[in-house]
Amino acid sequence: MLMARKKKQDPFICPRCGTRVKEPVKTWTLVSPLPDKKGRVTITIMGLFKCPNCGYTWRAVVKKIKNEVGEPEEESEREPGEIIEIDLSELKDLE
Ligand SMILES: [Zn+2]
Repeated sequence: MLMARKKKQDPFICPRCGTRVKEPVKTWTLVSPLPDKKGRVTITIMGLFKCPNCGYTWRAVVKKIKNEVGEPEEESEREPGEIIEIDLSELKDLE
């Protein structure tokens, strides 16, 4: 990564004027489609903020949750396979 990141920014603070917003205007969750090696799914709560002082709007990550999924190894082995349906009456006709 080329971008040098400073330490965690408070998502509630307006990046333009520094006013602290009480709460986001809107929140939504993003769930990563693939679990990590331990079978955990990261749920990211995003927020849309609007500064009451300067009117600037921005989006920021409010919270990240690692969700433990029970017995992930068993689950991963159960790949959804192709279902082949055989009509028995059709087989009889072939005989
Ligand atoms: Zn502002």
